Amino acid sequence: MTVRVRFAPSPTGMFHVGGARSALQNWIYAKQQGGVFVLRIEDTDAARNKPEWTEGILSALDWIGISRGSYEGPYFQSANAGEHRAAAARLYESGRAYYCDCTREDVQARTGSQYQGYDGYHRDLGLGPGEGRALRFRTPDEGTTVVVDLIRGEPTFENKLIEDFVIARGDGSPVFLLANVVDDMTMGITHVIRAEEHLPNTPKQQLLWEALGVKPPIWAHVPVVVNEKRQKLSKRRDKVALEAYRDEGYLAGAMRNYLMLLGWAPSGDREIVPWSVIEDEFRLDEVNLSSAFFDEKKLRAFNGEYIRALPVAEFIDACQPWLTGTETIAPPPWQPEEFDADAFAAVAPLAQTRIAVLSEIVPNVDFLFLASPLIDEAAWTKTMKDGSAELLDDAVAAFEALESWDAESLKSTLEAVGAERGLKLGKTQAPVRVAVTGRTVGLPLFESLEVLGRERSLTRIRAARLRLV
Ligand code: GLU
Repeated sequence: MTVRVRFAPSPTGMFHVGGARSALQNWIYAKQQGGVFVLRIEDTDAARNKPEWTEGILSALDWIGISRGSYEGPYFQSANAGEHRAAAARLYESGRAYYCDCTREDVQARTGSQYQGYDGYHRDLGLGPGEGRALRFRTPDEGTTVVVDLIRGEPTFENKLIEDFVIARGDGSPVFLLANVVDDMTMGITHVIRAEEHLPNTPKQQLLWEALGVKPPIWAHVPVVVNEKRQKLSKRRDKVALEAYRDEGYLAGAMRNYLMLLGWAPSGDREIVPWSVIEDEFRLDEVNLSSAFFDEKKLRAFNGEYIRALPVAEFIDACQPWLTGTETIAPPPWQPEEFDADAFAAVAPLAQTRIAVLSEIVPNVDFLFLASPLIDEAAWTKTMKDGSAELLDDAVAAFEALESWDAESLKSTLEAVGAERGLKLGKTQAPVRVAVTGRTVGLPLFESLEVLGRERSLTRIRAARLRLV
């Protein structure tokens, strides 16, 4: 039997990192089993779906390594509406489903509780199809439904506790539970790997598989991803969009490595490992049952390590979108013609060891390309103290006298200027750094001055000096 798995996102918003993790787990499982990965876009909720979300899913998957053309699909659930309706009709004709026209209020009035499920009122009333009549599945009165789950063992559900759930609405449209099953069936899906939040649906779906006469798939429900307060990551509260991480400058390799660690770890005391190791070692049945904490700080640290591991030329390439701007990444503060690729290449290795996400490249190098630096006023006030004016005067004089404008000479010169005033290098550097770059933190100062060049550096220090009058 060929293993066939699917990833079945609904295009109702940005692509959630939890979804990306499920996609990767399906992807790896298919690869390990010599199977097929199917992409199905569950677009039947017409009110919430937008075509751009579908495009977003395809490009986010592509970014993370599940590239277009290397999987089966995308299929669109809406294209199978006929099959969904036919399955609903079959269930009705075989007596496994019945029509019901109760409103929620009717059920509440009968059961006396708004929490209890449907009470089976119409089970044997023989109501035929008609406008406003929902089709409900007749769940078995006895026995249990045992779900075979690669992560959870065999969760067992009492059938009598499963209400007669709706499979098609009053307007005849099949609901998610049924459409999802019928699609999996039609597409020959053998393993359903998805988020734990769907576990309550699973006994119902398995009953549908059985009622439609097809052997159910093997399930695997992976634990949910939570924030630091152990709340399920939500798009209203947390940063969950894969695209947002991409545009901030997370590397795809770091991201997918990190996502796979949510609930699982490779052998040994390792976390940062090549993708090939993850593909070899990942085991669905080793995935933890407890929810997985999405730790953005840890992800940042991870990303920093991935950035540092890049060959410099690749780092320079990777920075390009932030140096120019793209459709989704804001342009940098300099004009395109102000950018100097050689100057950038000269400081790139220094920046590479200091930034954790690629977007941070911009504030680190903008001083090189702007006619005058963007002064951070708070940093200015904090740094420019009594004595700074004189210090800058001395620095200008000493720098003007330099024969060679190189980092080493600049450093020893400024060190001497500070020493005359009893200042350590750190204190001496600070006003010069703010004068030249506009900030208190950034790339090493003397290399920055070297690349910026004598004239521009001196002009900036003099300008800062004038502001201090
Ligand atoms: N469209 C569903 C979702 O995004 C798919 C659930 C499933 O994988 O079965 O949650």
